[in-house]
Amino acid sequence: MMRRLDARKLSPTPDESQGVYRAAVPRAALDVEQALATIRPICDDVRDRGVEAVLDAGEKFDGVRPVDLRVSAAALTDALAGLDPDVRVALEESVRRLRQTCEAELEQTIVSDVAPGAAVERRIVPMQRVGLYVPGGLAPLVSTVVMNAVPAQVAGVPGIALASPPQKEFGGLPHPTILAACALLGIDEVYAAGGAQALAMFAYGAGECRAVNLITGPGNIYVAAAKRHLQSIVSIDAEAGPTEIAIIADDTADAAFVAADLISQAEHDPMAASVLITDSEALAGQVELELESQVAVAKHAERIRTSLTGQQSATVLVRDIDQAVDVANAYAAEHLEIQTADADAVAERIVNAGAIFVGSHTPVSLGDYAAGSNHVLPTAGCACHSSGLSVRAFCRNMHVVTYSADALREVGDHVVALAEAENLPSHGTAVSIRTSRDS
Ligand code: NAD
Repeated sequence: MMRRLDARKLSPTPDESQGVYRAAVPRAALDVEQALATIRPICDDVRDRGVEAVLDAGEKFDGVRPVDLRVSAAALTDALAGLDPDVRVALEESVRRLRQTCEAELEQTIVSDVAPGAAVERRIVPMQRVGLYVPGGLAPLVSTVVMNAVPAQVAGVPGIALASPPQKEFGGLPHPTILAACALLGIDEVYAAGGAQALAMFAYGAGECRAVNLITGPGNIYVAAAKRHLQSIVSIDAEAGPTEIAIIADDTADAAFVAADLISQAEHDPMAASVLITDSEALAGQVELELESQVAVAKHAERIRTSLTGQQSATVLVRDIDQAVDVANAYAAEHLEIQTADADAVAERIVNAGAIFVGSHTPVSLGDYAAGSNHVLPTAGCACHSSGLSVRAFCRNMHVVTYSADALREVGDHVVALAEAENLPSHGTAVSIRTSRDS
């Protein structure tokens, strides 16, 4: 079902590795650059016409015009009351685990006494207002409410707004399970808006929704493109577009597990990428048979088949696990699983991945819901320069500098010398006017 690529004859130098292996394992044909042309007019329309433009776009792309852009408090309360008790317990456990990770990751204020009377404090402050995006096109990603909101809340963000696409079958409201999760987490500013129009609403402000400082959350290619387009006026987390899984597996891997994990990510989106990197032709063959039998009985077989047969999915044959590591580092997958004999040692050598799932009992779908890790992760190769969502994304650092008169006098000549060297003598004067008066 997945095409095979033979990388065994490739031997790029370390400098060539990323270019050669990325060319050998291509991603989906529709890239973010192409989607930019689609979303630019949508964002401009929201900037110019506000709420009406957001509602119009909902009607066009989601097939329903919400009655109100902002979800009422009553709708949130009703959704929580109607939540399946098993789903509620599962959400609560997911929240508990992620909150524990986020609290451990909270950075502390650090004070450096660089000289007597001269202190530089690195103060951590939360973003003041953020917009969280929760996808809702193909699947109601209730887990994404948790993954966005918990780090924001642990960071101490005072203003949290959330948007998710309006659903035709729910009268133009976002999916009720998403609303229930918002209510469970105490998020009461929720908008029925999806895609680029939701992100433009966050960036420019529209109606009741004031402009935010930061937009986070995953989404499809249009959401990723809107993030790229809007980042000149608002901060964003990494581009987290159509999902990807790469699995490094050797002949000790269980083919049924490997196939199930490739399928689980393909289920997200016809454009999702599933990539198996293996040095075992025997395993590749077994996984292929498993894919046929497991996909045949999958609920979303058609979507999965489209994803697995697309050019973005492949089995990549490599000479050995050393080459597998090179291919994985070059590809920089959103999710990387290691199912090999010495999985810990292999994982140690990975430098580019959104998140790594180590060993045969750590499937990516565990991380999607309840591992305690965050599932909003960089895609499209961005994992070589960006990180997944965490409490850090919702914080800013500020240096707070405090010098006494003596401390300023001690360093004053150096400041004056550097100001002269830069031909900015008034900079020096701002120091010497003080030090000369004090002495
Ligand atoms: P979505 O909410 O991201 O997208 C739905 C919106 O797309 C609609 O509201 C609409 O406004 C817009 N849209 C659809 N067709 C359009 C068109 N032709 N032109 C302009 N806008 C259009 O939901 P989705 O489609 O289900 O996608 C969810 C995505 O999120 C999947 O690709 C999934 O893989 C990804 N995801 C990624 C991560 C991550 O961390 N990388 C995590 C979870 C989900």
